[in-house]
Amino acid sequence: DPEMKGFAPLYDDFLSFYHRNAFMRIIECLTRPLARAPGAVLHIVEREFSNAGWVCKYTGKILKNVVNLGSYNYLGISENKGKSTKVVIEAAKKYGVGICSPRREVGNLDIHSELEQVVAEYLDVEASISFGMGFATNVMTIPSLVDKDCLVLGDEHNHASIATGCKLSNATIRRFKHNNMEDLEKKLCDGIAYGQPRTHRPWKKILIVVEGVYSMEGSITNLAGIVALKKKYKAYLYIDEAHSMGALGKRARGVTDYFGIDAKEVDVIMGTFSKFFPGQGGFIAGSRAIIEHLRADSAIASYATSMSAPVCQQAISVFNMLSSTEEGKKKTKQLAKNCRMFRQGLKKAGFIVYGNDDSPIVPVMIFYPSKMLGFSREMLERGFAVVVAGYPATPVLGSRVRFCLSATLTDKQIQDALSAIIDVGDLVQMTYLKGK
Ligand code: PMP
Repeated sequence: DPEMKGFAPLYDDFLSFYHRNAFMRIIECLTRPLARAPGAVLHIVEREFSNAGWVCKYTGKILKNVVNLGSYNYLGISENKGKSTKVVIEAAKKYGVGICSPRREVGNLDIHSELEQVVAEYLDVEASISFGMGFATNVMTIPSLVDKDCLVLGDEHNHASIATGCKLSNATIRRFKHNNMEDLEKKLCDGIAYGQPRTHRPWKKILIVVEGVYSMEGSITNLAGIVALKKKYKAYLYIDEAHSMGALGKRARGVTDYFGIDAKEVDVIMGTFSKFFPGQGGFIAGSRAIIEHLRADSAIASYATSMSAPVCQQAISVFNMLSSTEEGKKKTKQLAKNCRMFRQGLKKAGFIVYGNDDSPIVPVMIFYPSKMLGFSREMLERGFAVVVAGYPATPVLGSRVRFCLSATLTDKQIQDALSAIIDVGDLVQMTYLKGK
């Protein structure tokens, strides 16, 4: 149906009907044009579909404004109404936008060093290094840390960028069950007696790789359990804090802050500038030795263009706001309040909601891939842009709506969104908990 009409409640034969790739592409067509500030009003743009390969073309005609409940603008800064915008413009005037060189050649500006110092101070670690892309930060850092003689233990729900980095490293890779410490310990013991401290070294290094907040599950890593195991078995720990830094903890410094654990217990902290901060790029923070090693060894430091200066300035301003101003505290508190209100409303209505109450990611289970598109489209009809995710980002029968909340959402927008979700949930026959 080129106009995407009449799809609503009848998708049960959808998967058998379409090739999987075509199916995934349709979902992308619905979600991709919506990526702007959550909480802010969005412009939904008319699209044209060609039957051959489902290529979509944007005609640019604005059809209606909707509220964005799907992108990563957790603190609501990407609306660009804040004070940071002025200094970002100043940075563009001073440095220009493009860098045109990697860090190891002539792409090294004072603003990069300033950003790296700000990150290290914010996290209370020795040093940090920034890169032009978050995804590539994981992909290229992990192979710099481990090789074929090492063991990498990754949570089964780790992000695609982590999985790709692990594969590229040529290390032996084992996945442990999500947040399951028993399974992690079993896998740590590969080659040594179960439950015994590591007395010999079947592996040159063991690296445990997890996320702070899991991007599809909304769950928070079991940091205390992992730190205890890493010490017992003399392993190293790498945490991707893309969705946790800026949201979790009294000072919004991520999972270490949330659990009151010293950030130095984590050997490698990875983060992105594309979510809370919100610009583009990634960073690694940790000991000076690790950061200097990455500066010299990592392919991304040698071969990829460094971060744009205005984007560095944007991240610096947001780090400063978070660490030293009332505005920062207000935004993180508002985000936490919005998350709780939204989750409680969903649970009260009987939806199956995954993840931790403090997570800004709120996955609501749809289960059947055949219901994804209907949910997304019907929400759009009611004025809300949502992201639905399915296989291969989730198990085949683990399709879900992945809400990402923002500090800028008002109580009314949240209540209206809940009413719309309840309405659409009934329409597409979502699975509810008993008692509904
Ligand atoms: N890590 C995680 C956990 C992510 O969710 C993402 C992207 N959503 C990335 C890394 C990649 O970051 P970026 O989009 O900034 O490249």
